[in-house]
Amino acid sequence: MSYFLPLTSGCSNNTCTFCGFYGARLRMRDADEARREIDALDLYMRHRITVPDVDDVVYAIAQHWDGRRVFLQDGDAIVYPFPKMVEVLRHLNEKLPNLERIGSYATPQDILRRTVDELRTLKQLKLTIFYTGIESGDDEVLRRVGKGVDHNQLVEAGRKAKEAGITLSLTVILGLGGVEGSRQHVLETARVLTEIDPEYAGALTLTLVPGTPLYQDAMEGRFSPISPFQSLEELKGIIENASFTDCFFSSMHASNYLSVRGRLPQDKRRMLAELERVLAKRDPALLRPEFLRGL
Ligand code: SF4
Repeated sequence: MSYFLPLTSGCSNNTCTFCGFYGARLRMRDADEARREIDALDLYMRHRITVPDVDDVVYAIAQHWDGRRVFLQDGDAIVYPFPKMVEVLRHLNEKLPNLERIGSYATPQDILRRTVDELRTLKQLKLTIFYTGIESGDDEVLRRVGKGVDHNQLVEAGRKAKEAGITLSLTVILGLGGVEGSRQHVLETARVLTEIDPEYAGALTLTLVPGTPLYQDAMEGRFSPISPFQSLEELKGIIENASFTDCFFSSMHASNYLSVRGRLPQDKRRMLAELERVLAKRDPALLRPEFLRGL
């Protein structure tokens, strides 16, 4: 239900060895161009008037949009220069007063680059939720996959966003430590989630993307991927070991072999029981088939 507004393309931290953005160049969109798109959107939402030099995709999305949510693109729109970001968000708020929420991906580095006051300013302009891939809490895994931040920096970034009142939706990646690093990955990921204590957390399962360094490592025997059932064991270990105040935790993403979800801590026992039932049977028919998995 969100309108997708591009401010950047690519990712400023293009060094993650498992990611399709690996090596991609970061590009910043011109703020005036973004403002023109917002003007066109406003005109269309109020009067259904289209402007000739505006991309058709704007209207294709706008005709099904309820005017309430905007998502800033791309991989880490928060890297957009702060004064320009404020300018674009102010314009969005002026032109689309019914906006309820603006969301964005935010790398931990993006958050660390901003002061708490800057983040508060973004929040006042309705940028109220960050989607952040932390991937792992284990320093060794983070270093090996080129995440560019360590455990303590992840915690610092998470706490900073929370201090500014911004809701956090974090994702971690099952299997990122491979077979050898699995236990440490689980325990440290549970620990980093506990320390940040986000409102939302989601697990993805590692999918090796051809062309990325991690794919190459797996092909050449330097990285041993875990099995589907090991991914469920990792998921169980993270749920078991993490402590939250109130977090919606899920493995609903299409990359996972099994979907579990619930509020933690209250649904912990039920979620663990669901995983234990499947792990006891070890029946591949209970898992999402490989051809239905997505990135
Ligand atoms: S920070 Fe996120 S989007 Fe950027 S390269 Fe790493 S995983 Fe990919």
